[in-house]
Amino acid sequence: MQVTKRIALVAHDERKQDLLSWVRRNSDILAKHNLYATGTTGKLLADQCGLSITRMKSGPLGGDQMLGAMIARAELDILVFFWDPMSAQPHDVDVKALLRMSVLYNIATACNRATADFLISSPVFHQPYEQELKNYEAYIHRKI
Ligand code: PGA
Repeated sequence: MQVTKRIALVAHDERKQDLLSWVRRNSDILAKHNLYATGTTGKLLADQCGLSITRMKSGPLGGDQMLGAMIARAELDILVFFWDPMSAQPHDVDVKALLRMSVLYNIATACNRATADFLISSPVFHQPYEQELKNYEAYIHRKI
């Protein structure tokens, strides 16, 4: 993982203000990295914080899956995903799939502000970092 991180930012509707507040507080740092977001989250953050953000489709329309595909292609380093623990989501399976990809490919993932604070204040955030990837070769061969 290079010094310039590829960071995905996602928030469910009830958590968008929380993410906006976190991004505002850290905008100087975040502006030095490559930012991605689901559609509505990205528009809100770009409009309110003036950050340059590559936007996917809106989460319920496939945006979570687009970010998941980026993780599978090793195109993302960090996921900040403020999901809503109090509301059912129409795209719950996509949410689960995105979080699964982040664990499978061992990318740094923050789902609440405390973890996002720890992440962005970590020395590793500002340095190159080699994340270990579990070897799934045996799994693939077992299936053939
Ligand atoms: P949104 O999607 O940024 O388009 O609201 C977020 C999500 O539900 O994953």
